[in-house]
Amino acid sequence: MYDKNNIFAKIIRGEIPIGDNKIYENEYAISFYDINPQSDIHALVIPKGEYENILDFITNAPDAEQKGFWSAFDETTKILELTDNFNIWANTGTDAPFIKQTVMHFHLHLVAGNRKCNLADLMAG
Ligand code: AMP
Repeated sequence: MYDKNNIFAKIIRGEIPIGDNKIYENEYAISFYDINPQSDIHALVIPKGEYENILDFITNAPDAEQKGFWSAFDETTKILELTDNFNIWANTGTDAPFIKQTVMHFHLHLVAGNRKCNLADLMAG
């Protein structure tokens, strides 16, 4: 069940200000810089709706929210001038085999540039 007290829900409600860390916002989604970047560029794109993970989002979000989310993703890549050479990922579940989901509100990681850590560090959590 979705936990309304997760940190991204608080960001969406404005209870935790992100200030200059915000990259882009539309009616349905927000993107901002990760507080603990794993690479030169590390952004997060989140829907404003209450979805715990990617499957919850693609199964249950109305078309307008899905379109708005991908539009925000697209605008974010443009603002960050990313046309190629980036990774996106969505950690899903607290027992995921490589990198565990720590914030239970669906988010895409958008990562580019030089890495600040290696995969083994991330996997060690
Ligand atoms: P995950 O482990 O996939 O759930 O990723 C959650 C991400 O949220 C981590 O990379 C954190 O560094 C990031 N994070 C947590 N709190 C904040 C915050 N207040 N602002 C920006 N990023 C955050």
